Amino acid sequence: MKIENPKGTRDFTPTVMRDREYVEKTMSNVLEGFNFEKISTPIFEYSELFELKSGEDIKNRMYTFDDKGGRKLCLRPELTASVARMFSNELRNLPKPLRLFYFGPMFRYEEPQKGRYREFYQLGVELLGVSGVFSDALAIYAACECLKRLGLDFELQINSLGVVRGLLEELGVDDKVSGKLITLLDEGKRDGVKEVLDDEIFGRLIKISGGKKSLGEAEKVLKGFDKALAALSELRDLAILLDSAAIAYTIDFGIVRGLDYYTGTVFEIRVSGLGAQNQICGGGRYDNLIEVFGGPKTPAVGFAFGFDRVCEALILQSKLKPPEKKVVVVASVSGKSNGYALKVAGELVRNLSESKFIVDLDVSGRKLKKTLEQASNTGLGWVVIVGEKEEKEEKITLRDMEKNSQKTVTIAEVVKLLTSF
Ligand code: AMP
Repeated sequence: MKIENPKGTRDFTPTVMRDREYVEKTMSNVLEGFNFEKISTPIFEYSELFELKSGEDIKNRMYTFDDKGGRKLCLRPELTASVARMFSNELRNLPKPLRLFYFGPMFRYEEPQKGRYREFYQLGVELLGVSGVFSDALAIYAACECLKRLGLDFELQINSLGVVRGLLEELGVDDKVSGKLITLLDEGKRDGVKEVLDDEIFGRLIKISGGKKSLGEAEKVLKGFDKALAALSELRDLAILLDSAAIAYTIDFGIVRGLDYYTGTVFEIRVSGLGAQNQICGGGRYDNLIEVFGGPKTPAVGFAFGFDRVCEALILQSKLKPPEKKVVVVASVSGKSNGYALKVAGELVRNLSESKFIVDLDVSGRKLKKTLEQASNTGLGWVVIVGEKEEKEEKITLRDMEKNSQKTVTIAEVVKLLTSF
């Protein structure tokens, strides 16, 4: 009987995993370079964690279940709420700002399509305990640097929910209607906005997008709306910082985030050619979330990469190229030297850099001739041959498959020789 994997989930073969590991490691290296530290939280949580503030859209898509003790649990649909919980319970007394990042699967009950899965991976960053656009700029810079390190071409869009929410507040629009508008905008349905709120100023604002001159356009539209204008001035400061750091961006006043907790700067990163699901990263400032979880008032900014989409974008742009590793086969001449072969393989693994070499101990029991034949057919550089003679001398025979020559050397010598290539 053949059993399929559940709809919206995927198996990752070794080849795919090699690519994904490379992407994850490259991004993690960048983040660690910026002093972000990795954390991990449970895959399942109490449902109420996400019911508190994650927004209607996410709540409706949650995988919820009761456990045997009758507890209301769910598979995590995102991780910012978990990080806020962890911070409030365990990290609140650490010196701030705290720089955290995470990687792992999230679960949302969605209609699967290209770039949209029910089990998908996010690599996310949270910078806690610091307010202001300087830290927003760091978050945005770190996100862009991760993608640049991978060689990906992308487009960054920035906005301030402070501008959008500030205007709605000053127009006297109630929270429920504001929420509806934000959801519509997040779904990219700008045309549907008029049916919910027929307001000329709001309609004009969300249509403004472009370079820095859009700040001036927005300023004109928002004349007299002081709250929105104050947020606009912060957005201008952010734009100046990004300019100085040579980060290219578009300002788009229709960019909002669906999650309920965002308060200020928001940003999205897209890759053209990916189809409908072209948003590979989303994030922003959330200054009130930690309080919801009983923590002290703690400003914060964060983002999450849709990791699967980043990988798909890299494939699309032919940029997914993990460095090749060199394979060293260790072959035992006869059963009598298998134990020594195992010891040699272990020493090689210990001493050769794992990022560059793979040690493949041939455990098939086939004749040495066959192993050498296969090594030469698959274009391998070296085979380490061990027999009783080598064991007695505590040496190995290194065969250069290209030159068809071999010499007997110590393990230290072979390590030196291989790493010099
Ligand atoms: P969000 O947590 O909704 O802000 O999403 C952050 C990022 O996760 C998005 O920009 C997408 O790239 C990615 N993402 C969200 N939902 C899915 C999904 N169902 N499948 C794949 N990627 C997703």
